[in-house]
Amino acid sequence: MTKTRQLNGTVLRIERSSIHDGQGLRTVLFLKGCPLRCIWCSTPESQNPVPEKGYAKERCRECGLCVEACPAGALSLDGESGGLQINREKCRGCFACVDKCPSGALKRYGYSMSVEQAVAEVSRDEIFFFHSGGGVTISGGEPLSQARFTAAVLRECKRLGIHTAIETCLFAPWEDVKMALPWLDVLYADIKVMDGALHKKLTGADNTLILENLRRADASPYNIEIIARVPMIPGITDTGENLSETVRFLRQVKKLKDIELLPYHRLGTDTYKHLGREYSLKGLFPPTQERIAERRRFLAKLME
Ligand code: SF4
Ligand code: SF4
Repeated sequence: MTKTRQLNGTVLRIERSSIHDGQGLRTVLFLKGCPLRCIWCSTPESQNPVPEKGYAKERCRECGLCVEACPAGALSLDGESGGLQINREKCRGCFACVDKCPSGALKRYGYSMSVEQAVAEVSRDEIFFFHSGGGVTISGGEPLSQARFTAAVLRECKRLGIHTAIETCLFAPWEDVKMALPWLDVLYADIKVMDGALHKKLTGADNTLILENLRRADASPYNIEIIARVPMIPGITDTGENLSETVRFLRQVKKLKDIELLPYHRLGTDTYKHLGREYSLKGLFPPTQERIAERRRFLAKLME
């Protein structure tokens, strides 16, 4: 392996044998940290760039072991409302509480990993890549928020002959995008909403940089495939107007291989609770299978 000077990344988790994040079976490295705050985000535990903890009250036995272990006095058991009270301002992030918890009520999100460790984790699955045509996908969070780490892992995987992909929102300085491109086979680009003002309202940032980065990646000399991914948020991103505008823009992208619709789901709502946060789309429900099929047909027609 090329000498990579003690470069560490903050990894949320590693998933193996995924069939949703690229061709064949994928090993997916989910990284911590994202510059956007999409109101529909299903992995809120990926947004904060540093490790943090979640608390599932329903699993807590109120044994007090975590309170005793905490060196910062950040935890208390509240007799009245029940459950653990966490003063996140006082917390020093030592995770002694998580280590002591006997019930799994406290969970750690994120840990530090070197490039060498990450590549070793990916390499364990090489036999599956060989038989399925799969490889590694770096996702998040936003993989380009840790661009040096992402690029180094991709480079080492490429040297080992492993197929590489990233899933990115492309809201990153061009220098960071450029770092990853030489080592990429597929770039999955989230194109959420074409209207800049609406994009800012829904994600916290305007989309000018995102679209510009996609144009520049397309014009780069690298032989990459671009697959655009549009989150299908009912009545917000799946409208005829947004999908038409999206296809109009993507028609100019020469390396574009496909556009995928990713249906909205609510799997992350409990995690908001565990992090002590509110989920803002409480009243929104996932689209029906009929609606998903209809929108996919609509999109296919636009792409003809
Ligand atoms: S992470 Fe450490 S400082 Fe924070 S609540 Fe747990 S034990 Fe206390
Ligand atoms: S150690 Fe775990 S089970 Fe015990 S009080 Fe703390 S969170 Fe609850």
